[in-house]
Amino acid sequence: MSTDLVLLARAADYAARQHIAQRRKGERAEPYVNHLIEVAALLAEATDGSDVVLLMGGLLHDTLEDTDATYDDLVERFGPEVASLVAEVTDDKSLPKEERKRLQIEKTLAKSRRAKLLKIADKTSNLRGLITSPPVGWTGARLRDYVVWANDVVQSCRGLNPRLEAAFDEAHEKASRHFGCQ
Ligand code: ZN
Repeated sequence: MSTDLVLLARAADYAARQHIAQRRKGERAEPYVNHLIEVAALLAEATDGSDVVLLMGGLLHDTLEDTDATYDDLVERFGPEVASLVAEVTDDKSLPKEERKRLQIEKTLAKSRRAKLLKIADKTSNLRGLITSPPVGWTGARLRDYVVWANDVVQSCRGLNPRLEAAFDEAHEKASRHFGCQ
């Protein structure tokens, strides 16, 4: 029996249930779980499927920020390593949005290797989504701001995984061209 596969399937099932009513902000309003699976797939490919904690973190990375899951729930179901990885990539929602964005740039450098890889995969998925399904109501300026900001956050995550960075760079370049960033 592969314990890793059982854990991974359990994390996918839990993530899908937790985010069941949520949709992505894009005009296509994709089910939220598509984003989570894309992030996990990016991480799996970049690490040759060698790190199940990282993949589970990818599937669960928005559960603390966007659902009623608690840190203790994650510890109980998936263990302290996965729970603390998710906590590391969770913004403090009590802070204003701009402050949270600034902190992501400032604090990412000191985070763990796994948290940095997860950030790169998350931003890659988000940038791809901006092109294929831009959020309704976002102006060109707001879209460009996001593209620049995502790249600023990823600058603090570099030097760990060339394959993942290449996937990000491709998404970033496409988005920059698409939205006319300088
Ligand atoms: Zn995300």
